Amino acid sequence: MAKFIFVTGGVISSLGKGIASASIGKILESRGLKVTLMKLDPYINVDPGTMNPYQHGEVYVTDDGAETDLDLGHYERFTQSESTKFNNATTGQVYNAVIGKERKGDYLGKTIQVIPHITQEIKDRVKKVAQVSGAEIIIVEIGGTVGDIESLPFLEAARQFRLDMGEKNVLYIHLTLIPYIRVADEIKTKPTQHSVQTLREIGIQPDILVCRTEKALSDEVKEKISLFCNVRKEAVIESRDVESIYQVPLVFKNQILDEIILSHFNLISKSSNLAEWEKNVVEKAINPKDKVKIAFVGKYITLQDAYKSVYEALTHAGISNDAKVEVKKVDSEDIEREGADKFLKDVSAVIVPGGFGSRGVEGKIKAIRYAREKKIPYLGLCLGMQCAVIEFARNCCGLKDANSTEFKPKTRYPVISLLEEQRKVKDMGGTMRLGAYLCKVKSGTLAAKVYKKSLISERHRHRYEFNNKYKKLFEKKGMVFSGIYQKKDLVEIVELKNHPYFIAVQFHPEFKSKPDKAHPLFREFIRAALTLK
Ligand code: GLN
Repeated sequence: MAKFIFVTGGVISSLGKGIASASIGKILESRGLKVTLMKLDPYINVDPGTMNPYQHGEVYVTDDGAETDLDLGHYERFTQSESTKFNNATTGQVYNAVIGKERKGDYLGKTIQVIPHITQEIKDRVKKVAQVSGAEIIIVEIGGTVGDIESLPFLEAARQFRLDMGEKNVLYIHLTLIPYIRVADEIKTKPTQHSVQTLREIGIQPDILVCRTEKALSDEVKEKISLFCNVRKEAVIESRDVESIYQVPLVFKNQILDEIILSHFNLISKSSNLAEWEKNVVEKAINPKDKVKIAFVGKYITLQDAYKSVYEALTHAGISNDAKVEVKKVDSEDIEREGADKFLKDVSAVIVPGGFGSRGVEGKIKAIRYAREKKIPYLGLCLGMQCAVIEFARNCCGLKDANSTEFKPKTRYPVISLLEEQRKVKDMGGTMRLGAYLCKVKSGTLAAKVYKKSLISERHRHRYEFNNKYKKLFEKKGMVFSGIYQKKDLVEIVELKNHPYFIAVQFHPEFKSKPDKAHPLFREFIRAALTLK
């Protein structure tokens, strides 16, 4: 019988519920338990795929092609669990399913209501994850903050879950904030008391409180929280700000959070061992020996969440090279206006991530030209590859004004364009080329050296493709097509001869990088930057 942990959040958003959930997964997994994590999102969109990055941050893509919440990225980075489309459920999906059943007549004339029909659908989705994953522990993170109207059906479903499955099989963890008031030099527990009160009104008594705080929680404060919130004192866990998010599992383990959870579930397992994690990830992240500065040229650089997995993959590459990667975030529109030199002359490498729409594209192309001509390591991801192709077409192949049909539908040289199957697409949601595809790596190329494999699988999220009509000409001019999706003859990886590290990929390698196993494309990119700096 699987055990279920529901993680809720109180007081304010952005407390790091995703990282806390992933860290709980990590400490339980380190005790030999099979863990999976799931996110319930209260918004009405079916998935975040159609949302603007400013609204939602990064869209994380799973192997099976689901466009999901970025917290699933944390889950996969901290644990071995592999997410599928079932690991993220939204209000939109839940209502869609219930209304679909109602139209089919499945409810046999009943009035369809939030309780029990919507809550049943939510519970079924949680159970489905347990069944599909075969995990012993299912951690279910509920998005939003307790007290929001939107998340009520999810909290109600979580409440019923314990009733259905039994006291010992369901655990509630509440993540909360203990603010520090500078003028009074005091930390305050009142907001936490109120948020737990709201949770109890719904019928959920948290078993464990994880308290985000700037300052240490004294014994006295813990006792107060324990008394007012009706939570055992040892289950009041202090979660202070740390230098690296990868320290959080250690912080939890030091307070025997794993023991507290297992004893609630009456589970016995081997003791945990996070020594490798501490030595190879945390130590390296906090005390790097070397450092390197790279430019990140994008258009959502003011929002930390917009390129979450790419930033994390760069951190991992730093960890594996024992170096700190200092990321200089450059707005591609600034380069467009003022030229690349001004922004890139002090960096050792350039990365251009994915993106949509024409805004900022010309700046990215200028940045790529700079990296190509100055022989600075370049890594292009998805749109970053398409822009590299456009740049090469214009400046090395004499195809003046070459473009992608995404940005200029009537361009004379459509070096990036839509496949026939994409031209027919009318609905925008879930219709891109999504998820894992195999790619054959050409031997003797940089890609082969980096991957050390001839067949790889990487995740995709795009509509446009390299236009094979231009392949011959490009090859003649020095571009190497080093990765191909053979079934449809689609270009997956391009690179340049006569350049120390210029590689760009149609897929998103950032989704498969881990702190203790950096993705080879990122690892070698940072290595090249360090060598050449
Ligand atoms: N806009 C491009 C496309 O749809 C690239 C997408 C991306 O970078 N994820 O093909």
